Amino acid sequence: MNRPIVLTRGAALDRLTEAVPRFGPVYAANRNTDAGPLGRATTSELSPYLRRRLLLEQEVVGAALAEHGPKAAQKFIDEVFWRSYFKGNLEAHPAAWTSYLDDVAAERERLAANSGLRRAYQDAVSGRTGIDGFDDWARELVEHGWLHNHARMWFASIWVFTLRLPWVLGADFFLQNLLDGDPASNTLSWRWVAGLHTQGKAYAARAENIRRFTDGRFSPTGLNESPEPLQEIDPPSLVPLPSADPVPTGDVALLLHLDDLNPETLKLGCRVTRVGGLVAHAPNASEQVRQADREAMADALDRAGQWFGCAAAIAVPGWEDGLPVVAAWAPVGPSADALPPGCLRVRRQWDELTWPHATRGYFQVKSATPAILRAMSPG
Ligand SMILES: Cc1cc2nc3c(=O)[nH]c(=O)nc-3n(C[C@H](O)[C@H](O)[C@H](O)COP(=O)(O)OP(=O)(O)OC[C@H]3O[C@@H](n4cnc5c(N)ncnc54)[C@H](O)[C@@H]3O)c2cc1C
Repeated sequence: MNRPIVLTRGAALDRLTEAVPRFGPVYAANRNTDAGPLGRATTSELSPYLRRRLLLEQEVVGAALAEHGPKAAQKFIDEVFWRSYFKGNLEAHPAAWTSYLDDVAAERERLAANSGLRRAYQDAVSGRTGIDGFDDWARELVEHGWLHNHARMWFASIWVFTLRLPWVLGADFFLQNLLDGDPASNTLSWRWVAGLHTQGKAYAARAENIRRFTDGRFSPTGLNESPEPLQEIDPPSLVPLPSADPVPTGDVALLLHLDDLNPETLKLGCRVTRVGGLVAHAPNASEQVRQADREAMADALDRAGQWFGCAAAIAVPGWEDGLPVVAAWAPVGPSADALPPGCLRVRRQWDELTWPHATRGYFQVKSATPAILRAMSPG
């Protein structure tokens, strides 16, 4: 991604319009190729918008279906459902997030105390390992706030199995810098690469695969191509999906957060007379990510104020003026942790339909996809 990214709903819609012709056979044929920051886009590059719900999953899936039909758009639709799968899977295994946070804190302490580890970590995050491709991706991530999916997979595999660095520090480096940084997709993808998500199955970055899908830009040597999956004593346990809250019928104060900046499409059934904004960044987020978060929130507050015809601003103490506070469901992550006590959470139909299938592997979500799409009400 080499274009400057503007985090507004208008820019998201422009990007969707521009990209949708490529959501059919072109996507299926090219999506694995990483043409680099100066090359052509081989995927939609919509993730910073989907992450904040400046675009909704059903909007991009609907656009793909309308333009290409279900068969030709299948690969693209599958990928959008990977996002929903990871969201639902983390809701069902919240300890994957809390133990990740604990482990990042512990590894950061170890970094401070252990100069060998600190040097290896610094070389990795500043692109000084000497591994072709890996060093370029480290710099690309910091500069552009984005990496192609295949580069993320190669990078994570080399981080864990060739450099033998703690996976949680790699996931933390991603979350600091990715403009689409997402607790579910990021944590669970790193766990998947490491062999913890699908237990016993790790992802191997292979030099031949990297050469092929970077059009020969990179040809690394010395990779560990036969990785032993990591193991953990206490895998995150499955918990029941919490129910959404009933919403009162009278006047309410709506709290926007970074997991859902699409207030116009929330089904509330009550009258919004105040709007507040809650900006809870990813842990250790870079200034580039924070700026993007603030820009996206400012755009959403602006739209919400016009849509509901009321005051809309960053929430400060007393903003809700004694009214019940309602918010879109905040999935496991910083927004959920920062919601005020007593806040009533409304879940979107997309999540209600998808998450119950996301407790184990992706295949159950994939099998349920046609039924989910049929059940989605328009709008
Ligand atoms: C180690 C690692 C870390 C990752 N961290 C994140 C993250 O923090 N945030 C994030 O949004 N994605 C993450 N991903 C998933 C994926 O790399 C990105 O969603 C994708 O590269 C975004 O590019 P795009 O919008 O062009 O995707 P497209 O290929 O155009 O796909 C359309 C949309 O589908 C979703 N999607 C596509 N592929 C995946 C996938 N493998 N997993 C989950 N959702 C997917 C995204 O919302 C994406 O915008 C990670 C993957 C790996 C391997």
